[in-house]
Amino acid sequence: MSKELIVAIDGPAASGKGTLAKELADYFQYIYVDTGSMYRALTYKAVMQQIDVNDEAALMDILATTTIELTADGKTLLDCVDVSNEIRENSVSSQVSYVAVHPKVRERLVELQREIASNGGAILDGRDIGTVVLPNADVKIYLTASVEARGQRRQLDNEERGIASTLEEVCANLALRDEIDSTRAIAPLKQADDAILLDSTNLTIPQTYEAAIQIIEGVRQTKNN
Ligand code: C5P
Repeated sequence: MSKELIVAIDGPAASGKGTLAKELADYFQYIYVDTGSMYRALTYKAVMQQIDVNDEAALMDILATTTIELTADGKTLLDCVDVSNEIRENSVSSQVSYVAVHPKVRERLVELQREIASNGGAILDGRDIGTVVLPNADVKIYLTASVEARGQRRQLDNEERGIASTLEEVCANLALRDEIDSTRAIAPLKQADDAILLDSTNLTIPQTYEAAIQIIEGVRQTKNN
């Protein structure tokens, strides 16, 4: 029987990780784990309850009484309620990187992520999947693109979801999140030494997808021989 792989896709904000990971999961019939949505769901609850995002103990209290589930059809459930759209709002995007700096918060969410991936056949996207969550992942892709390209794509995405934003706001948020995510003490955003760099600035979605399929198929064949 062929071995089901673990695929880690990391990269900066709005680099297209989610779109790519979802398509790859469909193609290979793997599960898709959007780890960013876990940090976003916690942030959403903290914002709703007016909890200070710098207060790690308060965030841990929330986590202790909260369920975060990712459904097979890509929805994020917070305490059994679908919050997939709410967690993309600017009120969450502007706060999530502050929530994600806390070591205990990360420890708990990483535990959940490892549990979900434990049977293989999984594609996880995030910031620290290849470096911290699953350092032994079979395939590691670091997906990036220029901040302008990422901003334009995220703005279109927001328009489709009915989320109000301007291109300037979106680009500023991406740049700020990248800065916080890549300079934090714990599990900063960075390319793992053994990750393959995929720069999609000048690639269409189908071209990016094709490149990723080739990378994964290559590893799959090596592992199954
Ligand atoms: O992937 P997405 O942009 O939805 O992630 C939102 C935020 O969650 C990131 O900017 C980062 O602060 C945090 N995050 C993280 N580690 C991950 C995934 C996301 O710190 N594995």
